Parts: sequence; C-alpha cells; structure tokens
Amino acid sequence: MRVFNFAAGPATLPLAVLEQVRDELTDWRGTGASVMEVSHRSKAFVAAAQEAEALLRELLAVPAGYQVLFMQGGARAQFAAIPLNLARADSTVDYLNTGIWSKLALAEARRFVATVNIAADEAASNYTSVPAAGALALSTGAAYVHYTPNETIGGVEFPYVPDSAGAPLVADMSSTLLSRPLAVSSFGLIYAGAQKNLGPAGLTLVIVRADLTGKARPGTPAVWDYQAVADDHSMLNTPPTFAWYVAGLVLRWLKAQGGLSVMGERNRAKAQLLYAAIDASGFYANPVAEKCRSWMNVPFTLADPALDAPFLAEARAAGLANLEGHRSVGGMRASLYNAMPLAGVAALVGFMKEFERRRG
Ligand code: PMP
Repeated sequence: MRVFNFAAGPATLPLAVLEQVRDELTDWRGTGASVMEVSHRSKAFVAAAQEAEALLRELLAVPAGYQVLFMQGGARAQFAAIPLNLARADSTVDYLNTGIWSKLALAEARRFVATVNIAADEAASNYTSVPAAGALALSTGAAYVHYTPNETIGGVEFPYVPDSAGAPLVADMSSTLLSRPLAVSSFGLIYAGAQKNLGPAGLTLVIVRADLTGKARPGTPAVWDYQAVADDHSMLNTPPTFAWYVAGLVLRWLKAQGGLSVMGERNRAKAQLLYAAIDASGFYANPVAEKCRSWMNVPFTLADPALDAPFLAEARAAGLANLEGHRSVGGMRASLYNAMPLAGVAALVGFMKEFERRRG
C-alpha cells in the first residue's frame, strides 16, 4: 500500500511520475535499455536533459543571462562551491543565520573566506522567526549575501526577499524551490538539492547569473567551477543520469498541473489547513512566528512527549508515514512538498483530531 509520505527529503514523488518510470524502465524510449544504461552523451539522453532544462527555465521564467547547472554533491557541496566561485580568500561575505542549515552553510564558508559576517542572527527568537527586512547588518563590499529562504528543520520561511544592497544574493532553496512562482532576477545564485520538490537525491540544481561565473579562485576543482560545468553543459563528468531524467518527468508533471502559480495556491491551502488544525487545538503546537511559517515543512509538538511514539505508530498504521521530526530536534514534522496532495494533509488533520480526542 502506498502511504502519504511526509518525509523531509528524499521525499514523496508524484505517483504518475513513478508509474511512467516503471513503465519505461527496461526499454527507455526505444533504446532497448534502461535510462540508467545509456550514455549521457547519447542522443536520447541529451534530448531528455535539454528538455528538463527547458522546462525548468519555462516554469521558473529564468531570465536570459542565467546558467542552469545540473550538479552533484548536494546542497552541502554548494556550501563550499559558492565561496570558491564567488569570493576570494580575503573577501568578506554576509550570512543570515536563521537556523540549522544557515549555520552549516556559514560554517563551511569560514573554511574558505577570511571574514564571514553574520548579518542577522535569529538566536534571540530561538530560530522561530526571520530578521525584519530593514534589520540586516550588511558589510560594505561583501562578495555576496547568503540566506536560507526555507529552514527545512525549523520550519521557518522568509515571507520576503532580502535586499542585499547590490551584492549578489545567494539562496539555498533546497526545500522551497518550485513551490510557488519566484522572481529569479532578484538573485545572483539559487541552489537546491533535488530530493524534495524536484526528483531523486543525487542531483543538485544551480541557477547562476552568468556574470558571476568564470571567477573561481585558483585551486577550485573543475567539477566545482561553475564556468567549467557550464561550458560542458553539466557533463564535465558523468551526471546522475537517472535523477536528471526523473527530474525532467517531475517538471513535465508540474507543467501539466498548471505550473507554479497553481502549485503555490495548492501549497498555501495545504499549509493553512494543517496550521489551522494545530492552532485550534490545545494539544499540538508549532513555535514559529505566524508571518514566517513554512509552507513546506511544518514542525509540531504534542502536549505530552510520551505520546510521540504512539502518535507515530498509529499514524503509520493509518497510512501516514515519516512524521518524526529531524533527529536534532525531535517532535513531529510534516513536509508538504508539491507531490503531497491536499487529501494527504486532510487525512493527517483527521488523524490528529482523532488522536487528540482519544489520547489528549
Ligand atoms: N540546505 C537545506 C535547506 C536542506 O534542507 C538540506 C537537506 N535537508 C541541505 C541544505 C543539505 O542538502 P544535501 O543533503 O543535498 O547536501
């Protein structure tokens, strides 16, 4: 039985995509082989790769002058690739610290850049809010400003795009990309691990303004040099072909759903349904300031932590899987990425009410 899968990533994929993968697995588009068994330079694969890029550009309305790169190493490799490409060893860079992923990103930057300025730190709110738009302590001459639009563990999402005062704005969109329309032109660089809204793990997307490439510092490995990757159309080394192919199918599915405005409306409705249920109960709680609650990752706690284990077990028995919070924070977390239908959230809310009635 297929469950409603609330995992934070790798995460649920659209059923229609999985069925197509199954149907064409052993003979992919007349090649007589699976997509995993053909050359990344074959005509069939290059066509699929180009289609995925074209769909991504169309869905996000990526302006001309941006490179779209299909890389590996996850978002965490980008934590290092960004300073290597965009800053020198003696540069100053600005980081907004809004939670666990921001903190890991800035810790990695410290290995490559002399001055990592914390332009905002939400420690005082215990990482349950984002800085006020006017409250950023930006450095003059920063090589870039980095932030995490959606903190996957904390469930905190920026309701605005920060003003980086002319410095390139760099965004870790791992857990929010493709969840709604986006003004790509506001950013110097956007990156995301694929394994939430885009496809299987192993693929990492980078969208970078072309004037920011070609400046990698000496010593940067070629596979992490954006210009070198762009010059070889993301085939400098053998790309994760299966993940790239599945991402292409997910992008086709997104287009068929009506694109990112439709997804945005659906995602807003899903999140509202769950937050309303949490707020209406005295049993469940979400600590995040209302204006910056994530549409994608909803952490919540039960009034009595001793009920966590029965909650998870009974939820799983009801077909609601992977609701445990991140190992570093505990509690619960429901991730509501694009492929989670409203029916899944409705089923979760129904289960939560019923569990509270019986055990609360
Ligand atoms: N940034 C964010 C916001 C994430 O959610 C994650 C993974 N959950 C990462 C970075 C790390 O991604 P990866 O495992 O692909 O390196």
